[in-house]
Amino acid sequence: MHSKITILGAGLTGLTLAYLLQQQGFDFQILEAKKCVGGRLNTKLSGNHIPIDLGAAWLWDYNPNLKQLLNQLNLTIYPQEMGDKVWYQPHASADFQIMQMPPQQQVSYRINGGSTNLALSIAATLDKKQIHLNTVVESIEYVNHTYTIKTDQGIFTSDYVVSCIPPAVVANSISFDPQLPVDYLNVARETQTWMEDSIKFGIGFKSAFWEEKGLPATTFSNAGPIAEMYDYSNLAKDRFALMGFLHPHMNDINPEDREARVIKQLESIFGEDVLDYVTYEDYAWNQDIYVNSIPENRLVPHQNNGNLILRKSLNNNTLIMAGSETSAVLPGYMEGAVNSALKAFEMLKNCI
Ligand SMILES: Cc1cc2nc3c(=O)[nH]c(=O)nc-3n(C[C@H](O)[C@H](O)[C@H](O)COP(=O)(O)OP(=O)(O)OC[C@H]3O[C@@H](n4cnc5c(N)ncnc54)[C@H](O)[C@@H]3O)c2cc1C
Repeated sequence: MHSKITILGAGLTGLTLAYLLQQQGFDFQILEAKKCVGGRLNTKLSGNHIPIDLGAAWLWDYNPNLKQLLNQLNLTIYPQEMGDKVWYQPHASADFQIMQMPPQQQVSYRINGGSTNLALSIAATLDKKQIHLNTVVESIEYVNHTYTIKTDQGIFTSDYVVSCIPPAVVANSISFDPQLPVDYLNVARETQTWMEDSIKFGIGFKSAFWEEKGLPATTFSNAGPIAEMYDYSNLAKDRFALMGFLHPHMNDINPEDREARVIKQLESIFGEDVLDYVTYEDYAWNQDIYVNSIPENRLVPHQNNGNLILRKSLNNNTLIMAGSETSAVLPGYMEGAVNSALKAFEMLKNCI
């Protein structure tokens, strides 16, 4: 259970760092609390294997590091279907109306098979023995140039630790000896983990009936439960789905009721065709303690994201703080995660 480097968290930051370290022959281990890799990359292969991204879904042309990584892993990206018309409901007592969509400023791309494909493709290049799943980091002690990492699966040791866990989760749920600097803790606790309050849903169908009828899929509603929704059929066009975000007040509703309310709203838009749905999935991120450690602490979107204090290395550069929210570039996004991993990798290369 000793490696030169321990990476905390197997989200996109931790996995990208592992991918880079492995190519240069570094000795490392990854500790991940959940039973699978990916973190906020969370594609549900629902029903008839319809890939629905309940976490990150889109990337853009201004994400060069992410695009390069996808390229290296031979993963295909393709534009999100938007159409030129949308359904719009201005308020609860108004009906949905079809509106002209303004031209898109940036094309949003999807990863073929869903964003989890990226996490799984990286993991496939690593030695499985290096990834410890179902392993929750509880405390970290630094004595005599060695880190002792206590987890619910036992003790791991290393010379370097790279935290790829969102800063607020680090500050709220892992204890450090010596303690992390007070300025770090103060900022980290008030750092929003991007999308920590969101609820995403996806619903699979046997056919894209909206397309067959010439109706838009893209939907915006100020009333809810659906806030926004898009066509999420796959690239091969043999799996059909709608996917989107629910209004935050749906966090207070149980999953069965959420499903019933979404179906009802969809029926009011598309009619009875929706009742023939194959599968419904949703995920309330504010109930995921590894993303949103204190749900009642409401922070504004991107609060403190990219703050310099969050990426300061500690203990003479042996404790490196990484993760998308620490990135100077597009913090909170997948590009931020890849950028953060690249920076951590450079730091380790210079130190070891
Ligand atoms: C609903 C949603 C939609 C999004 N949409 C987009 C999008 O369209 N485009 C985009 O670019 N970005 C999007 N994002 C953001 C994107 O998902 C993140 O920027 C990126 O995945 C963050 O990667 P990360 O590795 O830094 O953090 P995470 O993915 O959060 O990884 C951290 C890992 O650490 C683990 N962990 C936490 N605590 C412990 C512990 N104590 N012990 C061990 N392991 C622990 C977690 O389980 C997790 O696997 C979205 C996020 C969400 C939630």
